[in-house]
Amino acid sequence: MGIDQAAGFQVFVGICLFVLGLCIGSFLNVCIYRIPLKQSVISPPSHCPNCNTRLTAADMIPVVSYILLRGRCRYCKAGIPVRYPLVELLTGMVYLILYIRYGFSVETLALLYLFSILLAVLFIDLDHMIIPNGLVLLGMAGGALTTVYNLFVPFSLYQPSKWYTPLIGMVSASGILFAVALIGLLIYGNDGAMGMGDVKLFIPIGMFLGWKLALLSLFLAVMLGGITSIFLLISRIVKRKSAIPFGPFIVAGTFIATLFGNSIISWYFAQI
Ligand SMILES: [Zn+2]
Repeated sequence: MGIDQAAGFQVFVGICLFVLGLCIGSFLNVCIYRIPLKQSVISPPSHCPNCNTRLTAADMIPVVSYILLRGRCRYCKAGIPVRYPLVELLTGMVYLILYIRYGFSVETLALLYLFSILLAVLFIDLDHMIIPNGLVLLGMAGGALTTVYNLFVPFSLYQPSKWYTPLIGMVSASGILFAVALIGLLIYGNDGAMGMGDVKLFIPIGMFLGWKLALLSLFLAVMLGGITSIFLLISRIVKRKSAIPFGPFIVAGTFIATLFGNSIISWYFAQI
């Protein structure tokens, strides 16, 4: 392939993955709504929550339908939350960015899988302050595949890649967080702020990213969560007692670590 053809191929794959991300984002909206209610994500087919009319394919084109319908149900004119197209766009952007960073590779495929789950976790935790076990297990199943793959071909997120990197990853960040949760439980009783969902979420993250990037993800999540909490408290958006879900910060921290983690780590150790 010539240079032009190679560039054309990359743009083509990028566009395909962005569109795929929009469609997966549309499915994630269903998951975010139904999983906490313990409903099936497959049946019944999508319907308007207000008038119960079953939606047609034309009503469910990611982002496009929302714009064409001006954010209202075609049948009863009830408002559609703007978050639906935003989740679709966000998923499309995440897919595109992961492809730009890791190219046409098994790593990209693995990360598309991980971040699809993490995006669902982000919004479910935001809405309900829970991280469903089912999503953690789905993540671990994917993590088991990358663990096996890494036995045969070094998985480039693990630097250096050893056979046990994802296994230490499973227990590193989650182990630290579990210890913090235990201490919180001992000091504050049941009000200890750390949820076990956050602990469990770091098991698949550690499998996909290896122990170094998992620890960096945890560090970044704590920093982002701390800064945001201080900002929310000072600006009085939240009260002192109200709990802030940690899941969204874990997802954001993991995304930063995924994109820049190995550079951040080598830069840091070059300083000392
Ligand atoms: Zn309706």
